[in-house]
Amino acid sequence: MSASEASISGPQPTSLGAAPGVHFGFQNTYARLPERFFARVNPTPVAAPRLVKLNVELAHKLGLDPAELAGGSGVETLAGNRVAEGAEPLAMAYAGHQFGHFVPQLGDGRANLLGEVIGQDGVRYDIHLKGSGPTPYSRRGDGRAALGPVLREYIVSEAMAALGVPTTRALAALTTGERVIRETALPGAVFVRVASSHLRVGTFQYFAARQDTDGVRLLADHAIGRHDPEAAHTERPYGTFLEGVIARQAKLVAQWMLLGFVHGVMNTDNTSITGETIDYGPCAFMEAYDPATVFSSIDANGRYGYGNQPRAALWNLARLAEALLPVLELEAGGQEAAVASANEALQAFAPQYELARMAGLRSKLGLFTEQDGDAAMAENLLERMAANRADFTLTFRRLCEAAEGVEGDAGVRGLFADPSAYDGWAAGWRRRLEEESKSAGERAAAMRRVNPVIIPRNHLVEAVIEAAVARGDFSPFEELLDAVLSPYEDRPGLERYAAPARPEEQVSRTFCGT
Ligand code: AMP
Ligand code: MG
Repeated sequence: MSASEASISGPQPTSLGAAPGVHFGFQNTYARLPERFFARVNPTPVAAPRLVKLNVELAHKLGLDPAELAGGSGVETLAGNRVAEGAEPLAMAYAGHQFGHFVPQLGDGRANLLGEVIGQDGVRYDIHLKGSGPTPYSRRGDGRAALGPVLREYIVSEAMAALGVPTTRALAALTTGERVIRETALPGAVFVRVASSHLRVGTFQYFAARQDTDGVRLLADHAIGRHDPEAAHTERPYGTFLEGVIARQAKLVAQWMLLGFVHGVMNTDNTSITGETIDYGPCAFMEAYDPATVFSSIDANGRYGYGNQPRAALWNLARLAEALLPVLELEAGGQEAAVASANEALQAFAPQYELARMAGLRSKLGLFTEQDGDAAMAENLLERMAANRADFTLTFRRLCEAAEGVEGDAGVRGLFADPSAYDGWAAGWRRRLEEESKSAGERAAAMRRVNPVIIPRNHLVEAVIEAAVARGDFSPFEELLDAVLSPYEDRPGLERYAAPARPEEQVSRTFCGT
């Protein structure tokens, strides 16, 4: 060994001859699957990348150096202008039911999986660029993303993480210096997404639709290895895996319902098998409680309205079960047994969902013990809220004060069109609270840990987008992001973020990012 070989220190210049690249430490497994699982394609460089926001805390969790990411070559890498060492950019193949209609080939039409990194928690994460240029799956799309939807995804996904909901995360948002043409010309952007994986129900459907049983099996083995390693040691790995996905989705959707979150596009290609919320398009949080709430401009029939979400999730899981049938058959010993085991797994959804929702409602109401009448009492409150257009988030938050004493009632009453509708319910609730042994102070504190004061209200998200897109002003984005990152804390000065939209501010329609 020569002296020079032995004395290399630090990163080597890349072939570009530029500054040393960002060290991601990629350890890719998806790229090792057969070539028919994806298309190898690099991001398409953009004209003038500029970092809008870097998630420093998340970078640390991933073992990445924020200073490196924010530096010249980091920004080039995040924008897709430069391929980091160890990255193996690819567009994943998937299919999906969109509003009930099956499309056998969707795939990443405007995204690249750069590779996988192992976080400080030992978990493997995908680093994924959205809006990074056309791929073989782009169909008629331009492969790009507009700034507005990128900012929405950044804020709402980080708010969900802060609220404690499983979700993909935002590592960075960048502007491209290019325009994208939608209804009008808009500033282009790239979103850097982090996920436990990008395996969707639609990924399984892609292979099932092609009668590619080997593909389904390889994908299921890959998914089990990554997300359900204990399933591999059971007698029925695929059945156990299906049960795991169902359990995760049941819990996830219960959390959405308990926070008033409306996903908006629960197509099977937007349903993650990790149990993370994925694909923030026309999503929004409900204000006045109404189970029929729909925001998405493309959801004319309300298929994915607030109250339909549990049903939509189960429908998607049934499609996953169908896609897995060929491999379930292998372990169940025949088609009939496979169908029976799939149905049994699907039947577990409703009780698991109800259990999670009821446990959540109890916590929201300050109940530590279980009694028979609890469910009826909770439903009764929701009915009164619906009839009186009470703000979902504020009703539960203000109940925290009411739980400490009747002085707190005024705040809740004021949210009901007819305040006496609250009084009628509150009397019964108080009697029920008397049967709990916790002190009022303890109860209120526990309630404040599950009933947020700040959610990313739709009119505020819209105002953030308007300021950034029309005026290049990102300070409203920074301010709203800061507010939603501490959703359970009463912070002086942030009252405006807790307040529902005034009538003239209300935004009842949201648009997809495409
Ligand atoms: P989404 O509604 O974002 O879940 O996207 C559904 C499908 O359309 C996915 O296959 C996307 O990759 C694709 N798609 C969405 N927007 C674009 C775009 N601007 N260019 C190419 N493909 C897109
Ligand atoms: Mg999608």
